Amino acid sequence: MQDSASDRRIRDIVIVGGGTAGWMAAASLKHHFGAAPVAITLIESSEIGTIGVGEATIPTIRRFYQALGLSDIDVLRATGGTCKLGIRFNDWTTPGASFIHPFGLYGQDLKGVAFHHYWMRLRALGEDVPIGDYSLGASLAAGGKFTTPSRNPPSTLSVFDWALHFDAGLFARLMRQVAEQNGVRRLDAKIVKTNLRGEDGFIESVTLDSGATVAGDLFIDCSGFRGLLIEEALHTGYEDWSPWLLCDSAMAVQSEGKGDPPPYTDVTARPAGWQWRIPLQHRWGNGYVYSSRHTTDEAARMVLTGSLDERLLHEPRKIGFHPGRRLKAWNKNCIALGLASGFLEPLESTSIALIETGIEKIKALFPSRDFDPAVVDEFNEMSRLEMERVRDFIILHYKLNQRPEDPTGFWTHCREMAIPDTLRKKIDLWRAQGHFVRYRWEMFSPPSWLAIYAGFGLLPETYDLSVDGFDAGQLSAALAEMRKAVADTVASTRAHGDFIEQYARPRSVA
Ligand code: FAD
Repeated sequence: MQDSASDRRIRDIVIVGGGTAGWMAAASLKHHFGAAPVAITLIESSEIGTIGVGEATIPTIRRFYQALGLSDIDVLRATGGTCKLGIRFNDWTTPGASFIHPFGLYGQDLKGVAFHHYWMRLRALGEDVPIGDYSLGASLAAGGKFTTPSRNPPSTLSVFDWALHFDAGLFARLMRQVAEQNGVRRLDAKIVKTNLRGEDGFIESVTLDSGATVAGDLFIDCSGFRGLLIEEALHTGYEDWSPWLLCDSAMAVQSEGKGDPPPYTDVTARPAGWQWRIPLQHRWGNGYVYSSRHTTDEAARMVLTGSLDERLLHEPRKIGFHPGRRLKAWNKNCIALGLASGFLEPLESTSIALIETGIEKIKALFPSRDFDPAVVDEFNEMSRLEMERVRDFIILHYKLNQRPEDPTGFWTHCREMAIPDTLRKKIDLWRAQGHFVRYRWEMFSPPSWLAIYAGFGLLPETYDLSVDGFDAGQLSAALAEMRKAVADTVASTRAHGDFIEQYARPRSVA
């Protein structure tokens, strides 16, 4: 046992903000610390509210809530959620063309050589089959079907993963329930001042509009774009990524649903950006993400509302954002999570996933009150790399667009813009011989890169030489067998709407 004077362990964590980031952090950290003597207080302002978007996720979210003891069905029911097998990209190449980026693998590797080399050879032999036909996730999504993956898949062909679309407000409420049940204290108040310690500029406390102060050892800033602590108090600085990520605005509106919910997020290219469509059980979310340098808010509103023929549930509202990242996610005794730490843009639904990995990093590198610079630096380096990798993946989508009509100049600009060296290197390696490089802190694995390269028609100049060792007829038959296995599973799977109806509707209707 250490005496209290020498005990430098953190005892008080203050989380500022009760959006998705704040309540996810509160629920997860309290669960992690269990009965350990660490108090967690969350301060949120119901007067200010939350951003109210952020409803498409990637599969890591399921591992996140499962670790809290929640099942998929619990979360689907509590949040009006639907299942997401991937993202369907419409009109990003040529008008009318679509492809799906699934959460899962394509085909089966043979003799240790990645599947896409065999697929490439078959194309060279004249069999031009879309790569999605070798993906169970993509094929289920395209067919509007849904089943949960088998725990003991008969082959790698059956390997796929899934995520959720959910009502962000209901998800934050669920996280709040978990957090409060485990002892997180909640204060509904507006923070009017952040008080810094004279000697080192660390945060000592925050002052509420009631006049009360809340002190802490560690502050987690989940206050949204403004970065109340990390920026407004600590002046950490921000790295601007708008030269590559042109979109800086979104026009968002909720609508009534339209038929069966598809098991994917729809993202459709528009004149100065793209439009999302996220099906929930009780409503659908829609939004046009655009570059304010290439269109006006009014034009964006017209494009959005003109594309929707179902009843809108409110007036469209504009959300501005600034693509980039906080220079240090962790500064002094403050760690920023969620929008306070930076934001790329909504394509590929990475923001909530970055909250999850941020929380995991906090646990893994949990500091003492000495805030060892080595720990802080490591956290910041990991966060930087992770965000840059995601940034590159998102830029790839814009860079590869082939939209022929471009009245705003947005798409031509994206095609012609210089890209980060890290991305250039990846594309060069792929283009030369179909190689993938996977760096540390990469959120998207090779199948995701393959989905985007193939979807946009960027194919390598050649394939792995060893593939020529296969007899062409046998190779064709083996790949036809793979496609058949996928198609047979799709044929015997129920519609996604039926799955939702049977398992995901709330048990009791109020
Ligand atoms: P917020 O929701 O803004 O919460 C901030 C909190 O801080 C609130 O509780 C507020 O009351 C509190 N606060 C602020 N100031 C004070 C104060 N002075 N005193 C007390 N409390 C205060 N992410 C995805 O993963 N998938 C998506 O599909 C997706 N779509 C998006 C679409 C758009 C257009 C945008 C802009 C973002 C999208 N995101 C998406 C990102 C996602 O919305 C956020 O990552 C997520 O909602 C987390 O937000 P947050 O909790 O950081 O901030």
